[in-house]
Amino acid sequence: MTVILITGASSGIGYQTAAQLAKQGHIVYGAARRVEKIAALGNAGVKPLKLDVTSDASVQTAVSQIISEQGRIDVLINNAGYGSYGAVEDVSITEAQKQLDVNLLGVARLTQAVLPYMRKQHSGRIINTSSMGGRMTTYFGAWYHATKYALEAFSDALRMEVSNFGIDVSIIEPGGIKTDWGFIAADHLAESAKGGAYEQYAEKTAAGMRKQYGSNLMSNPKIIANTMSKAVNASRPRTRYLIGMGAKPLVFLHTVLPTRMFDWMMMRAS
Ligand code: NDP
Repeated sequence: MTVILITGASSGIGYQTAAQLAKQGHIVYGAARRVEKIAALGNAGVKPLKLDVTSDASVQTAVSQIISEQGRIDVLINNAGYGSYGAVEDVSITEAQKQLDVNLLGVARLTQAVLPYMRKQHSGRIINTSSMGGRMTTYFGAWYHATKYALEAFSDALRMEVSNFGIDVSIIEPGGIKTDWGFIAADHLAESAKGGAYEQYAEKTAAGMRKQYGSNLMSNPKIIANTMSKAVNASRPRTRYLIGMGAKPLVFLHTVLPTRMFDWMMMRAS
């Protein structure tokens, strides 16, 4: 049986993915800070694990628990993340550091913690949740996109390094997915802009995000859970899975359109 650790399992994509993988018979540890929200997945067989990806000690404790209980770890799914939206001028450097800490350094902490075991086993798989936003940029998303672009490069470099040890790395690039993510990002945007020069534009964009994420235009997180399941179960996983509302057309348009035209489109779309 495959031993899997998935972060961000208390909500949205991670919650659905943990449930699906456990139903398939894998041994799944679902990790997050709000561990009580994962308890409901106990019926599906998911083992709740309290984890803050920004804490070295918390990461070490979580991985040690899995090793002491299972003696191995086969798959790490780095999925925890949030969108710290806001104008560059408005977002404090402290908040920017927090965004990097969760979305990028959190991935690095977990990767460093599991690699010694995966190397020893001479097998393992690391699946990182990036975003279509790792390949194109939306209005007021500077820090969020900076973390996801960085995660793309980090994952590609890591894949080369670990290939000689029987370890593979895949990147999941979701489009717009109906989870709490959009509301959290909209709250960050509105809050950061209060009383400042960008307030009017930010308010409008935040309202647009709330409307989009509250509608059924967005994809169901189960679509991403199905994709994660493919990346876990395939004998040779793909390096990238670009999937969900808008993902393929927007990345394509970002590649072919002149940059200023893409900027214009993104500002209008929000
Ligand atoms: P949710 O807000 O529903 O879930 C986010 C998860 O991340 C929660 O389980 C949360 O758990 C966890 N998390 C946040 N901060 C921390 C932390 N410091 N330590 C541990 N866990 C943390 O959003 P999604 O399911 O949509 O997001 C999952 C991933 O998908 C993210 O990386 C996101 O950037 C990415 N993504 C989402 C898209 C979308 O449209 N929804 C599009 C593209 C990518 P808790 O707060 O309990 O710790």
